[in-house]
Amino acid sequence: MNASISSIPLKGLYCNSLTDYSRYLTREVFIGHIPMGANNPIRIQSMTTTDTMDTIGTVEQTIRMVDAGCEYVRITAPSIKEALNLTQIKNELRARGYDVPLIADIHFTPNAAEAAARIVEKVRINPGNYADKKRFDQLEYTSFEYEAELERIYKKFTPLVQVCKEYGTAMRIGTNHGSLSDRIMSYYGDTPGGMVESAMEFIRMCESLNYFNLVISMKASNPQVMVQAYRLLVETMNKEGMNYPLHLGVTEAGDGEDGRIKSSVGIGTLLEDGLGDTIRVSLTEDPELEAPVAIALAERYKHRTQLVKDGVNSSIPVPIGFSPYQYTKRTTTELNTFVGGHQVPRVILDLSKSSLMDPQILAAAGYLYSPLLDKFNMAEQSVDFIYLADQLPSFNMPGNLKQLYDYSTWLKIVDKKNMHPLFASWNVYQSAQIKDQYLNLVQVSNKDLLQYPNAFKILSADKTLVFVLTTDQSHGMADQRQFFFALENTGIQTPVIIKRSYTSKSDVLEQQDKRDSDFQLYSSTDVGALLLDGFGDGIWLNSAAVSAKTIVSTSFVILQATRCRISKTEYISCPSCGRTLFDLQETTQMIRSRTSHLKGVKIAIMGCIVNGPGEMADADYGYVGMGPGKITLYRGKEVVKKSVNKDNALDELIDIIREDGNWIEMEV
Ligand code: SF4
Repeated sequence: MNASISSIPLKGLYCNSLTDYSRYLTREVFIGHIPMGANNPIRIQSMTTTDTMDTIGTVEQTIRMVDAGCEYVRITAPSIKEALNLTQIKNELRARGYDVPLIADIHFTPNAAEAAARIVEKVRINPGNYADKKRFDQLEYTSFEYEAELERIYKKFTPLVQVCKEYGTAMRIGTNHGSLSDRIMSYYGDTPGGMVESAMEFIRMCESLNYFNLVISMKASNPQVMVQAYRLLVETMNKEGMNYPLHLGVTEAGDGEDGRIKSSVGIGTLLEDGLGDTIRVSLTEDPELEAPVAIALAERYKHRTQLVKDGVNSSIPVPIGFSPYQYTKRTTTELNTFVGGHQVPRVILDLSKSSLMDPQILAAAGYLYSPLLDKFNMAEQSVDFIYLADQLPSFNMPGNLKQLYDYSTWLKIVDKKNMHPLFASWNVYQSAQIKDQYLNLVQVSNKDLLQYPNAFKILSADKTLVFVLTTDQSHGMADQRQFFFALENTGIQTPVIIKRSYTSKSDVLEQQDKRDSDFQLYSSTDVGALLLDGFGDGIWLNSAAVSAKTIVSTSFVILQATRCRISKTEYISCPSCGRTLFDLQETTQMIRSRTSHLKGVKIAIMGCIVNGPGEMADADYGYVGMGPGKITLYRGKEVVKKSVNKDNALDELIDIIREDGNWIEMEV
């Protein structure tokens, strides 16, 4: 890694710098022969989806995962039987020349954990259910009862620690937002603070037993919760003199574009902060498809240079009142009830290179033209602005679509309704004689603000102004975060649209999937991180390597993943594992095909009743495997119908949604 590594975290904070790149130094932990943490590369891993008793199936899937780039492979061990079968799996892998370290995934079963710890290189335990049955009782705990329960857990947990010490086995203490113990819930609720304490209790027990071979994770399906929990964990460990490596992941991220974007908003934000020693991307897809996504995310940091080395001052003070541990939207001026203030973040699409002869061109922007009716219909994801530079369209634009033109072109337009100027720089704007009376968008960069802070103060008095923030830095997120910090520190409330432009390393057209994927991963990381900070009144993504349709859907999915603007149904689907009771990919597609129009509804699709209900966190409805061919349906965390035949389960789920008044018919 070329990245600078410092061991001095910001006082009272969770990383070395909020405004520059610096990888956070953690303790080195060996997982078999492959170490993680410290100066080691960010490691890639994933989990099998086969039945652990299917030795050959598991071995062959593991091999596909290793060939795809996995450096560690996790396998579920729901009971002692599967734990013991890890010996056969390991032997077969070694016989085939694969020495990949294996990790046993444990929930509820200490005896399986102890058996597995004698066989594989690492065990993962969930502190929410290692020694507890999840009861959802919301029990009240007195401090005496709380301590007594910790004592009981200590006794149950100690034998596993002893085995790990004896066999040199590592351990991941893997907290999940949705499966916190009743004890933690009673004291902390399902908060990032509760997630951190859930892990810290087990870490402290390990340390009291002189066992330090630990890796920690704080997963949630909501990237906002996940990011806050990891940050709080590092700060808490830091205060207690600990620096265990971090395993990053967004759990139940889903599939396709949604899964990739949600994962990179969460994982990417933390990587930008300099955190993370290993990555697992959880997709409801074949596990060998996860490694390339994780590799693409990690690769960006191999050659990441610091802004300070590029001549940018990175010592901007953190604004008073800014907290990386809780979401607060930056206060901005609301302009013409459209941008800033309480308005949802706006989306801009650049169509300046498209032919503006045919109204169908706007389909990519979410405006579907009907020649018969000579009118446009808005799709769920329709952009708010299109940028046309100096091109004037030869058809009438939809009434609710705002158009942006370069200033010199805008000046020449006679009827300026819905048309606004884009100024190339702040000084062009300052010297302009004629301006729009409603909205003026001005391109600026962090460097401009650093050099001319007084000019920005003067500009900010103008209540028609929107900044379009660009960056040309390799660590663009930190560069743009500096800009927001500087605005906050000077009390400037002008709305800001975050603009990012991407080029592709690959010019090979056959690699369009890779180009789309890289664009989605990197833009979600860069813009998602700022939106999670509460920064940004809109986004404007550009890339010549991907289609306008991809740019628009990526923009809206980023806004949805950061919970800033909801434009479609959200699916929280588990990645599946050896416990899964139905074909998750097929079932997810089937449910999606009939519910994808339910804007804002969150539906969880979980493969098993053991962990599914606990892990579906904040879903509105749950579709959970109960037994072969049987499904249990949930409203939030409440069971509504048990053991429904899988052939009727989706209809029954729709009935429940209908009963709640959340159903609408799909438009044909
Ligand atoms: S919820 Fe899904 S991934 Fe989690 S244990 Fe059950 S089947 Fe496996």
